Amino acid sequence: MPTSRYVQTVPPPADPYAGDTLLRSWLTARLGSDGHTAAAARLTALAADATGPLRAAHADAEAHPPVLRGFDAWGARVDRIETAPGWEALRQAAARHAVVALPYQAEARRRWGAGARIVQHALLHVYGPESATFSCPVAMADGAAALLSRPEVDPAVREAWLPRLLATDPEVAVTSGQWMTEAQGGSDLARSATMARPAAGGSWRLTGEKWFCSAADSAVAVALARPEGADTGSRVLTPYLVPRYAADSPLAPARMPADWPAPGIRVHRLKDKLGTRALPTAEIGLDDAYAVPLGDPAQPGLGRMMTLVVVTRLHNAAASAGGMRRGLAYARAFAAARHVAGGRLDTSPLHRATLGALAVDTAAAFVLSGHVFALLGRVEVDGDADAAAELRIVAPLAKLATGRLAVAAASELVEAFGGAGYVEDTGVPRLLRDAQVLPIWEGTTNVLSLDALRAITREDAAKPLLSRVDGALAGAAGPVADALSAASVGLREALAAVVADPYAAGVIAGARGLALRLAHALAAALLIEHAATGDEQAAAAARLWTLHRLAGRDVSADLHTQMELLTG
Ligand SMILES: Cc1cc2nc3c(=O)[nH]c(=O)nc-3n(C[C@H](O)[C@H](O)[C@H](O)COP(=O)(O)OP(=O)(O)OC[C@H]3O[C@@H](n4cnc5c(N)ncnc54)[C@H](O)[C@@H]3O)c2cc1C
Repeated sequence: MPTSRYVQTVPPPADPYAGDTLLRSWLTARLGSDGHTAAAARLTALAADATGPLRAAHADAEAHPPVLRGFDAWGARVDRIETAPGWEALRQAAARHAVVALPYQAEARRRWGAGARIVQHALLHVYGPESATFSCPVAMADGAAALLSRPEVDPAVREAWLPRLLATDPEVAVTSGQWMTEAQGGSDLARSATMARPAAGGSWRLTGEKWFCSAADSAVAVALARPEGADTGSRVLTPYLVPRYAADSPLAPARMPADWPAPGIRVHRLKDKLGTRALPTAEIGLDDAYAVPLGDPAQPGLGRMMTLVVVTRLHNAAASAGGMRRGLAYARAFAAARHVAGGRLDTSPLHRATLGALAVDTAAAFVLSGHVFALLGRVEVDGDADAAAELRIVAPLAKLATGRLAVAAASELVEAFGGAGYVEDTGVPRLLRDAQVLPIWEGTTNVLSLDALRAITREDAAKPLLSRVDGALAGAAGPVADALSAASVGLREALAAVVADPYAAGVIAGARGLALRLAHALAAALLIEHAATGDEQAAAAARLWTLHRLAGRDVSADLHTQMELLTG
């Protein structure tokens, strides 16, 4: 008799828009029913792509990481980065679905106003997890577009590049790199050694070494450099736009303008990274590289660069939340198909509580990331000063808290699949690999905690956050209100100690703990706010997040009984 071999049923891919009840209720609450309806066709089309061709493109890009060809067959230096067809398909999809462009489009701003950024956040939530981290060039292109939109930027430079960054025609669209980190200083930008000197016709030349340049295949990059004669320190560093290819190079994409000189750029090597494997991250040498300043190099430029950095930090939060949601949906589908101890895995109270806990954290990450995009929209479209003040503290907090949640969730998700979670072609291991970068780039947890501390002490930046927590308290009751109220009192005490002696070693040592407490209280407030719109999933998540994270209560029994509601 032939032996029978057990084959596990494949967990079906969930539709990331139709199947995400929290995303849908968030869009209705934030955009109104009509606003949500107006976005539905886009999101449905993107979700269909994400569960079909983009998933295949993702697998192809991961399986065929980029390769650097230093020289051509005849010995000419070409520094060509070859990427997989899947990577190109992901680039084209990002352009077609306007993942970068939408919040800049006049039509979108007319339709959704400040909510155009909320629609973009939803697009990223759907696109990011199936993008093989093409979400990184998307983030940097958006950051570059925001920087180029600033009034200080030469209109001719803006007109040459902004339409390309915002193009929805894949033949025209380009992405951007962001070259800040140098080997001697990533977090410590004051140590930046790349120099800029003025050249003819208003252009400049950059010389130096950049240590981590992701999306190095992009047509353009924004590089930080110190203008000749400028002071030491980081404030004076200036953002320059650097075209990556010479216009007459056979490697220059058809979408390059024709009048750029040879760029003076050397790609030394590609990094061999833990994750983000499809994404080319290079070490790049600049030798009198052609560049144009973004704003007046005589004026301190780091503030201008922060326009770009804030946008990429927000994208990082969206990537954290999106990856968590994708992994949760996959783990839930697996648990419905897997049998253990005589029953389906998703009937085990213990595994249900595990999935429920992941769902609560996923909901918290979602509202944090959704909220920062909503704030950014209000700043950009309405010039809203209150939103700008809140964004100052919430941008670093949302980035750091979601990054840490994403790494913890990814580890749990791998375990939720048992051995299959450790096997490459299930697609699960990359969730963990790709999550681990989220707390590192765009500011590590420590660096962002110190940034939040500076904002608190110099700009009284915690005020809008505490107001939001107080506002949520008014809508809370019972043990949730007690937990949030106690958290608010505790935070006020901790903030008073910070303001009293901001440079005390104990205050600095506690910066990360304080930042996480602030972010967790904010997530509780946002979940409570959203629950008030009638969303039962948000109400359950708000209660369990607040009791567990803010009051340290064991909520396992509720996580088990409410698993279906929580996972959406
Ligand atoms: C996959 C990947 C892609 C990247 N892509 C890009 C890119 O496209 N462009 C770019 O510019 N950079 C990029 N980076 C670089 C990234 O932004 C830096 O690695 C990051 O900013 C940290 O800098 P560092 O590596 O110099 O580490 P360091 O700054 O040396 O940090 C080392 C440790 O010290 C801690 N630390 C640093 N300063 C302080 C402080 N003041 N107080 C307490 N603790 C501190 C940090 O938290 C960290 O744990 C990328 C990195 C990765 C991993």
